[in-house]
Amino acid sequence: MNAEIIAAGSELLTAERVDTNSLYLTAELNNLGVEVTAKAVIGDDRDRLAEAVRAALSRSAIVILSGGLGPTEDDVTREAVALALDRKLVFHPEIAAQIEARFARMKRKMVEVNRRQAFVIEGADVLPNDRGTAPGQWVEESGVVILLPGPPHELKAMFERQCLPRLRRLVPDHSIRTLLLRVTGMPESDLDQLISPVYKKYLNPVTTILAGNGDIQVHLRARCASVGEAEALLAEVGAPIEALLGDKIYSRNGDPLEVVVGEMLHKAHATVAVAESLTGGMLGERFTTVPGSSRYFLGGFLTYSNAMKVELLGVDPQLLAHFGAVSPETAEAMAAGARRLTKATYALAVTGVAGPESGEDAAPVGTVYVALADPEKTVAVHRQFLGDRTRIRMFTTQMALDVLRRRLMGRAG
Ligand code: AMP
Ligand code: MG
Repeated sequence: MNAEIIAAGSELLTAERVDTNSLYLTAELNNLGVEVTAKAVIGDDRDRLAEAVRAALSRSAIVILSGGLGPTEDDVTREAVALALDRKLVFHPEIAAQIEARFARMKRKMVEVNRRQAFVIEGADVLPNDRGTAPGQWVEESGVVILLPGPPHELKAMFERQCLPRLRRLVPDHSIRTLLLRVTGMPESDLDQLISPVYKKYLNPVTTILAGNGDIQVHLRARCASVGEAEALLAEVGAPIEALLGDKIYSRNGDPLEVVVGEMLHKAHATVAVAESLTGGMLGERFTTVPGSSRYFLGGFLTYSNAMKVELLGVDPQLLAHFGAVSPETAEAMAAGARRLTKATYALAVTGVAGPESGEDAAPVGTVYVALADPEKTVAVHRQFLGDRTRIRMFTTQMALDVLRRRLMGRAG
């Protein structure tokens, strides 16, 4: 079963306002096992809206409209749906009385335009609105058309209380289970090439891949008649995918990398410190967004200039002069210095060129060195990233966390 969402409102076609209602509705519909196959944003124009409703209804079992139920002339959703379904609008005096009473409770008098909100499409069920004046409507035709108010808190309350129970009766029984794998250390295209031969064989589960800043999420959604079947299907398709990705998978429960690495550090009774040039504190920020990170994160050094690398971390000025700030030697000296000064089990150091210009350093934009110092050795890893400044810095924090994760995995055996 599939659904379409139509967000009505000219303000949603400007750069100032975003349609967020459809995101909420999509999540709720997906939970029910209903796929959203199309979304539209339409300005306050009765005929265009009517046309969109007709088209949606010809394709989909559920059509949800949000917005345009207000009292003013530009709120035309009721009229548009009535037109699309070729039904009349009927005045309901009891709704007008309820709206009037609501105004009375606010010690205000209902203005005449509010009477527009008391018009209901012939044959529709009225969905009470306990957070605002405009009632919603539930209209059954070849499919079901649902009219919901625009203000998000009104829409959510109405959807939860009035629509969910009705939709549960309408939508065939099924169970949905999701497998979420988080992966790092490989480009999205490599990952897809690797695993697509497996997932392409199946329409169910549905596989989606989301990638950004060195982090890839692989979602498998299985929809079956029972929970057991859905889980068995996920196991069948998930196992070969997991085998192909191996230790590139860092999380199976949605946790981000800083949480995973934090748990590994905590379990190993180990601590970590950072020395950051290129990332200017972003790595320490990622470690410390995790509640309880004080158990393993000791602190860091934000050493952007060469002088600070020398003064704070004790990097040898001759080494800096000889190899340059962006070099494996400097990264290693930074990590070793941070570890010596903090007495942490591990120290991570990052240095590189974020761009857009590469300055006096000969290294090209996107050159990154991450060094990890541990009780036995200090080793630098080199990567060449592409992209803008933000992207390169985000990739670098991801790379640094992953370097530590790999070391910790080795330790744990
Ligand atoms: P309306 O019901 O069209 O009068 O909308 C009332 C208010 O709800 C608008 O001014 C917006 O602030 C908000 N709104 C309407 N549609 C949406 C939407 N799709 N997403 C988020 N907010 C919305
Ligand atoms: Mg509007």
